[in-house]
Amino acid sequence: MSAVGSNSGEILPKRLNPDVIVLGAGAAGLFSAIESARRGRSVLVLDHASKPAEKIRISGGGRCNFTNLETHPSRFISQNPHFAKSALARFTPWDFIERMSAHNLTWHEKTLGQLFCDQKSPAIIQFLLDDLEAAGGELHLGVSVSSVSKTDGRFQLETSKGHLSCQSLIIATGGLSIPKIGASGFGYDLAKQFGHSIVETRPGLVPFTFSGDLKDRFAALSGVATPVTVTTEDKTRFSEAMLFTHRGLSGPAMLQASSYWQPGEDISIEYLPAERVRSELSDARDKTPKKRVTDWLVEYLPGRLTADIFDETGLRNLVATLSNADIDQLTKRLSAHSVTPTATEGYRTAEVTVGGVNTDELSSKTMESKLCPGLYFIGEVVDVTGWLGGYNFQWAWASAHAAGKIA
Ligand SMILES: Cc1cc2nc3c(=O)[nH]c(=O)nc-3n(C[C@H](O)[C@H](O)[C@H](O)COP(=O)(O)OP(=O)(O)OC[C@H]3O[C@@H](n4cnc5c(N)ncnc54)[C@H](O)[C@@H]3O)c2cc1C
Repeated sequence: MSAVGSNSGEILPKRLNPDVIVLGAGAAGLFSAIESARRGRSVLVLDHASKPAEKIRISGGGRCNFTNLETHPSRFISQNPHFAKSALARFTPWDFIERMSAHNLTWHEKTLGQLFCDQKSPAIIQFLLDDLEAAGGELHLGVSVSSVSKTDGRFQLETSKGHLSCQSLIIATGGLSIPKIGASGFGYDLAKQFGHSIVETRPGLVPFTFSGDLKDRFAALSGVATPVTVTTEDKTRFSEAMLFTHRGLSGPAMLQASSYWQPGEDISIEYLPAERVRSELSDARDKTPKKRVTDWLVEYLPGRLTADIFDETGLRNLVATLSNADIDQLTKRLSAHSVTPTATEGYRTAEVTVGGVNTDELSSKTMESKLCPGLYFIGEVVDVTGWLGGYNFQWAWASAHAAGKIA
């Protein structure tokens, strides 16, 4: 396979001035290169890492949650909530499934529309590399780019493989999450160099950390998981599992909430709906007065969590002894437990970067810069961030498709 894999050899002279250079061999970069090369454009993909698409490899617990059947613009965070609509409408989850099927790859739905690859993540990477090679595109790994400029209508790149130039330059270098596998701020710096503004970036889909007493209490519950509904200060709600960790709170519900959270803000955790707590405890007071309050709650929550809640409230007694004020206190604790995270685990473990290249300065149809013709931004480097559950890869495919059809 000459065009793909760990191609660390020299770039042939005839390839030094291709039509298109794609920076970043992740999901978005590889997919845009395929689309562009299929249109007959000569395409070179460059990545500074030694392996392509590392995030596909580690995604979805090794099975790549490659899309979500419930893809809808409302599942993406952006300063301009309309920006993603066009690209998402023109390349849907079913379009990606069709590409996979052509390689005999199959999938299964886990939950909430999340699709996983039966043949595991490396099979997705291989199908992208095979399609790139079949379309005539070329991938070079271990290449660093030291400068980019534009003269005479072409982009000029100084790289560790020498001077390269191209007509269209696609930036697919992703966000800042997980620096250890190649993430860099390169895309943002390059965008700024060409006059773009950056919507402030922050880690998203990342566990919360706590300090002091809460940290100690959550650490003591480490490993306990339970379904909750979490609400952020902007009233966004997610009903999924929550996991206690040594450092704080994680699990899908908390990862989702983290993308909407700003430092200093509270999150509110609902273990049980308020009406249910109130009516069940009032009923129990009449019908089963000798039942212990802890025995009632342990029917709904894990034992260790139940014990922690009663250590805090001190209401361990028989249901019959609960006053109306006690029921109010328990209702609040179980349906709207407000806590203030100290921070998040940061880019070290974040699945995504929220924020990025300002969409006001990009065409929503083609992802081309409105400030510099021929320059495109796709995937995570753009200020479009999906929810947990395959939405981020769907954005990578859709934005890459939009750019690859024109670049
Ligand atoms: C642990 C983990 C699990 C995830 N699981 C899922 C999931 O199951 N489903 C889902 O939808 N999303 C998931 N995501 C998010 C998803 O992986 C990203 O949103 C997606 O990979 C973004 O694609 P991209 O091509 O824009 O960027 P990336 O995949 O980050 O690719 C960027 C590429 O650019 C290269 N690069 C960076 N800087 C430079 C530079 N200066 N020069 C040259 N090359 C450079 C990098 O080496 C990398 O190969 C997960 C993320 C993580 C971290």
